[in-house]
Amino acid sequence: PIKDRNILEVRAVTKRFGGLQALAGVDLDVREGEIVGLVGPNGSGKTTLINVISGHYPLTTGTIAVDGVQIGALPAHDIARRGVARTYQIPRPFTNMTVLENVVAAAAFGGPSRSSKEIRDEALHWIGFTGLSGKEEVLPAGLNLHERKFLELARALAAKPKLLLLDEVLSGLNPTEVDNAIQLVRAIRAQGATIVFVEHLMRAVVELSDRVAVLNEGRLFALGAPREVMRDPRVVSIYLGK
Ligand code: ADP
Repeated sequence: PIKDRNILEVRAVTKRFGGLQALAGVDLDVREGEIVGLVGPNGSGKTTLINVISGHYPLTTGTIAVDGVQIGALPAHDIARRGVARTYQIPRPFTNMTVLENVVAAAAFGGPSRSSKEIRDEALHWIGFTGLSGKEEVLPAGLNLHERKFLELARALAAKPKLLLLDEVLSGLNPTEVDNAIQLVRAIRAQGATIVFVEHLMRAVVELSDRVAVLNEGRLFALGAPREVMRDPRVVSIYLGK
């Protein structure tokens, strides 16, 4: 159920890389429990928006609030502590730690102090939830891409985020794995999560999004219900290169 309360408020956000304006004034509100698909042509600013919300890059101007708290000026670890978790296009587990240790580290980060047994049980829960049971003692190098992506999801979920940012979770997966991942995101949403996800696969965008935000040249180009937005001739034309 989508609540009548904004978890994310992005206001007039710009991001420059030297002379390049990657974000040129983006406004976006996301309500608690909502899933927003972020789409747009290559280079339109999708990953940059995820990167400034998570604090991976400082924004240039504008403001970002998470659950009513301004986070725009905070470093990434403080933003994570305030309940924003993300995954990367290319998974970034701790390579010298097992699957279980990776998820334990993330679970320990999320929420008040608990006993190590409680944290371990939580980690095992998220490992089961993401279908990684049996891989607890494996190092990330021993996982395939699908499993590494799901490990990222397990780590992000274990941090109990208010806002989950997913950057191309489905890219590189085969059709069966894609279906698997879509089911998993559905299960995450069923728990009331608020999610902003960048995705190229239109089937997944339409199936999973409550609303779709289309970026073009660093600006919010369209925003609305997935089927309407993806059928909009203006949106179709930016994908076809005008
Ligand atoms: P998308 O995710 O929509 O493909 P990006 O957000 O990755 O687009 O990129 C938007 C623009 O910002 C592109 O022109 C890209 O080259 C540029 N950009 C992204 N990250 C950096 C960076 N770290 N340094 C310089 N330019 C960057």
